[in-house]
Amino acid sequence: MAENLPSPGEQVVIAKPALQSVFKALDSAGYTLIAPVLRNEAIIYDEVSSVDELPIGWTAETGPGHYRLEQRGDESFFGFPAGPSTWKGYLYPSRLKLFSVSKNGGGYQTVPNQDVSPSYAFIGVRACELAAIAIQDRVFIEGPFQDPHYEARREKAFILAVNCTEPGETCFCASMGAGPRCTQAFDLALTELRDAFVIEIGSPLGARMLLDVEWSFAGALELGRADQKITDAENQMGRTLDTSDLPGLLYDNLEHPRWDDVAERCLSCTNCTLVCPTCFCSDMKDISDLTGANTERVRVWDSCFNPDFSYVHGGHLRPNIRARYRQWLTHKLASWIDQFGTSGCVGCGRCITWCPVGIDLTEEIAAIRDEA
Ligand code: SF4
Ligand code: SF4
Repeated sequence: MAENLPSPGEQVVIAKPALQSVFKALDSAGYTLIAPVLRNEAIIYDEVSSVDELPIGWTAETGPGHYRLEQRGDESFFGFPAGPSTWKGYLYPSRLKLFSVSKNGGGYQTVPNQDVSPSYAFIGVRACELAAIAIQDRVFIEGPFQDPHYEARREKAFILAVNCTEPGETCFCASMGAGPRCTQAFDLALTELRDAFVIEIGSPLGARMLLDVEWSFAGALELGRADQKITDAENQMGRTLDTSDLPGLLYDNLEHPRWDDVAERCLSCTNCTLVCPTCFCSDMKDISDLTGANTERVRVWDSCFNPDFSYVHGGHLRPNIRARYRQWLTHKLASWIDQFGTSGCVGCGRCITWCPVGIDLTEEIAAIRDEA
């Protein structure tokens, strides 16, 4: 065990079994560990206490409307592409009580949600997911309106990132400048080699989680092997997206016939927005008990593909699927930039994989560009 801890920016090597000591240190520090696990024939994020719960030796084959688990034939800890879960589900829960109102004598008493937000340690966050969290930070913390629930969860989150060495067939984070190398906002970032992890220190807090871990500084050989794996991943992206002047392309083609074509295929099922790590639309529901004396206001995820989402007095602003798909794609890749100074897409490929009819936004953009 080294007596001094490494500093942010330095890279160390640990043996693979030593990752359990990092888990133990996070647990002792009071974090709830959330990591990839095998559930319901997919790799999703859930609470864990041991590295044995990671999907060791598993990967997934992805494609448009296609996801199948496969055994890798090795003992890789993080050798799989992104599954349907996102960290959004923990920082911005799909259902959250905002406040409750109860009858109190002749009046009413309002009580805000004062639940203490959990301290999460996110294990295995990919570069595209770090980029997605940064986008949601802009929306919920850095914009004109702040979401205190998101902010409280985000401020306490510990991030153990993983440089992606296994992009899926639907991935295009390299095109979006969002991956596969982790470059921002992590406490620790590891690259998996066959028999060890190379770990980059991102913060003093991250370094402290190595207190009970046997580590040594990474040498040129390990750094070279780690770098090569990330470069290989970049060259193996299943998709590319030409991002040149996307706002101009989309704003100039609002009546393009391709919108009719995609509307014929889209089911308006909302899957693409629910699996997207950046989509943030929500609705409010007021739920009363049977006595009528107590009501809760709850925030739930919504989707621009829901007909009711754009219903206003007098009718629907987007009365058909053509209008809804066009709104989604144009917001993601054009008006999001006007609003938040960044694209709303990080190229994770989830919306392609989990679209039941395999609609692929990279294909839609290419078609509009070709025919424009
Ligand atoms: S739009 Fe699709 S590819 Fe882009 S971030 Fe959302 S889910 Fe990922
Ligand atoms: S694009 Fe696909 S996932 Fe999105 S609403 Fe249409 S059918 Fe559903």
